[in-house]
Amino acid sequence: MTVTSTAPVREAESAALSRSDAVIAGLPTLATGPTVEVRDPATDTVIAAIADATVAQALDAVATADEAGSQWARTPARTRADVLRRWYELLMERREDVAVLITREMGKPLVEARAEVAYGADFVRWYSEEAVRPRGDARELPLGGAQMIARRAPVGLSVLITPWNFPLAMATRKIAPALAAGCSVVVKPAALTPLTTIFAVELARQAGVPDGLINVVTTNSASQFSEAVLRDPRVRKVSFTGSTSVGRTLLRLAAENILRSSMELGGNAPLIVFDDADLDRAVTGAFHAKMRNGGQSCIAANRIFVQDGIADAFVEGLTEKMANVVVANGLADGVGMGPLIDERAVASMSRLVADAVDRGAALHTGGTQPEGPGYFYAPTVLGDVPPDAEVANTEIFGPVAAVQRFGTENEVIRRANDTELGLAGYVFTESLDRALNVADRLETGLVGINQGVPSNAAAPFGGIKQSGLGREGSAEGLEEYQSIRFYNIARRATH
Ligand code: NAD
Repeated sequence: MTVTSTAPVREAESAALSRSDAVIAGLPTLATGPTVEVRDPATDTVIAAIADATVAQALDAVATADEAGSQWARTPARTRADVLRRWYELLMERREDVAVLITREMGKPLVEARAEVAYGADFVRWYSEEAVRPRGDARELPLGGAQMIARRAPVGLSVLITPWNFPLAMATRKIAPALAAGCSVVVKPAALTPLTTIFAVELARQAGVPDGLINVVTTNSASQFSEAVLRDPRVRKVSFTGSTSVGRTLLRLAAENILRSSMELGGNAPLIVFDDADLDRAVTGAFHAKMRNGGQSCIAANRIFVQDGIADAFVEGLTEKMANVVVANGLADGVGMGPLIDERAVASMSRLVADAVDRGAALHTGGTQPEGPGYFYAPTVLGDVPPDAEVANTEIFGPVAAVQRFGTENEVIRRANDTELGLAGYVFTESLDRALNVADRLETGLVGINQGVPSNAAAPFGGIKQSGLGREGSAEGLEEYQSIRFYNIARRATH
């Protein structure tokens, strides 16, 4: 197996690191003190050591963003749009470098990393287009005597906290609408994957984003960061993507300053296959919904419910696909799945599979840890998973497909909705009526109908129940960074 050249890695990494002083306001580039060590999960080696920001430095970043923000809020929308458009173009011009960096620090195969660059850059393009279409309107008072104008103003300094699983897209999905709306930002990427964000923000600088507008704070001390920064009165908004438990903590903190809050939290997606589904479409859709990002996606198919009549054929088809996935370093050619993010993730897969098998689930493929180094786990299919198995009740976040059988539509809806989380759901059926009826009854923010990859920049992405608050992408994503204000104008009758 050939490993592709590492030259672009070094170039992108050194670009990310040598320019980081320009994007992290007030922070040293290569710290002389403590560092955040970034590991390549495929080789278990340290690939970079970058500054571990102190609380004082994080507050410097807030001060810098505060200063840059007032000017940016007054910058014409067309100028903001042009800068974002140029950033999009630079991300696409440097697509290969960004992709290699994503693979190095996060592990996904290059082909998926390239797809993430296109997906992540698309948010920047989308919001370059939305920036010049701010909505506002005039309203009539029912009793007359006055008119109102409703306007949208930038919400203000926004703190953006992102996870490791999509190091580019989770950052651009927040930064681009914030900038389009006229806000400045402090971004805290996950300590596991900060390099892609640093490099992307360097490209934003090259695109003409003014200094101080986007500040990246890398730190191993996430809770100290949020305790200090979210209490700062200059901050007006927090947008977080990550686990529900951390989201809950941040909402408590946000309550103190009554911060506008957007929360993209954990998922527990049901994927439902009815007897009348097109088998190939269902198997392929389930495979993609499960295996994108090695299963480390918030909208990953978590509980796969298959109707009795099609269950055997479905499990056979899915097993064949999963067993044929090439698992190796994501930089090599032809790889279908790279490593998981860390050792803990591998241990968690082993534990979940052992528990399910103990409780009577059938192991159709996988359940093994390929030779290291690196944090690899074999794509796994479990059939006849009992409802009390842990794998049926937790966010798996890895390459384990857990299949359960069901009999009737009502039964599967009840089981699918039996969770506090409500991010994504999937339905496979050839009946349009059934697809829409089931989609209506699923308690989730989004539903993939006969397809496993529903996300895109034009979609109002987000969860209900404990999967979150607010939406990212689409016009709604811009509104997350805007406050509505109204002027009430008294009118004197002239006739
Ligand atoms: P995580 O909650 O552990 O961490 C997410 C981010 O929050 C990281 O940057 C981390 O450093 C930071 N963080 C942790 N504790 C913090 C604190 N007290 N204060 C401030 N920041 C803190 O999640 P993760 O393991 O990085 O990501 C996986 C989770 O993210 C899964 O639950 C997944 O479903 C969810 N996710 C959701 C979406 C979505 O759009 N809904 C997208 C991707 C991931």
